[in-house]
Amino acid sequence: MPAVSDSPDEFRLIADLFAPLSRGYPGALGLTDDAALMRPPPGMDMVLTVDAMVEGIHFLPDDPADLVARKLVRVNLSDLAAKGAVPVAVMLAAAFPHNVTGAWLRRFADGLRLDLEAFSIALIGGDTVSTPGPLTLSLTAFGQVAAGTALLRSGARAGDRIWVSGSLGDGAAGLRAAQGLLGDARPEHVGYLADRYRLPRPRTGLGPELVGHAHAAMDVSDGLVQDLGHLCRASAVGAEIRADGVPLSPAVAALVAADQSWLATVLTGGDDYELLFTAPPEETEALIQIAARTGVALTPIGSVVPGSGVTVLDADAVPMRLGPAGWRHFRQSPSGDAT
Ligand SMILES: [Mg+2]
Repeated sequence: MPAVSDSPDEFRLIADLFAPLSRGYPGALGLTDDAALMRPPPGMDMVLTVDAMVEGIHFLPDDPADLVARKLVRVNLSDLAAKGAVPVAVMLAAAFPHNVTGAWLRRFADGLRLDLEAFSIALIGGDTVSTPGPLTLSLTAFGQVAAGTALLRSGARAGDRIWVSGSLGDGAAGLRAAQGLLGDARPEHVGYLADRYRLPRPRTGLGPELVGHAHAAMDVSDGLVQDLGHLCRASAVGAEIRADGVPLSPAVAALVAADQSWLATVLTGGDDYELLFTAPPEETEALIQIAARTGVALTPIGSVVPGSGVTVLDADAVPMRLGPAGWRHFRQSPSGDAT
């Protein structure tokens, strides 16, 4: 890795730690050259994505270094999965504060190695620098998909069903669990949620299976309603979803049952890294089979409609709106004002 570091020792440590992570990928050139080489197989499109994480914003200062590394890999692989791509390689740019220790770096490299192996991908290059500011990490991920078949945000059509993988709300509830703010919840739920926040499960197996079935797809990283809004804008359509149809883990279901205001967190909280996609109704049977084959739950939560915007409906199909006190029923008063 062409590292820029303050001391020869640091340079050597980083080279020693990161060079093995190229895992024999030929174009990585052992992380000793100026750049890496990559030749996509014939008939494939390369899919590229980059995500940055800043200490104190995207992860907690006391989060274990190995989990920080693995989260960095996973949030990027989630974006590749959302395009239907199979991950191939990553490049890392890291700005380490002056006080970062060798032990921290070793643990960080350990976490990277674990997930590069788990997802069968290689570190093919990168750069490390020192910074007086917070620890800042940027990972670029490369994947591939059959040419012209990548799933885009812009393909949704009126009449499509809207689906999500897994369960929603775990990431946002997990942040609070990791911060020790879920004192009343059951200990096993707190543990599950904190783990979901620190270690997202990118749907790398599911994403490529959706190619040819889904019209549009993205991953849920900023919250269901916001992200579905992005997808609707890209596709020039609207969406109607049922709040009570959104799949919940037992841990989040327990939080909602105890306090309905958690529903707002489920609908708008971030960090879930599940896949959100639309597909025509005739694909439903194929999707049920994909769910069974991949072991990832798929849940229909609503429909794509003509128009624009995301409408959230309650169990009685009455529109709800997000106010300061969370999601509330939205009814027209006789004067026409929303109340
Ligand atoms: Mg994304």
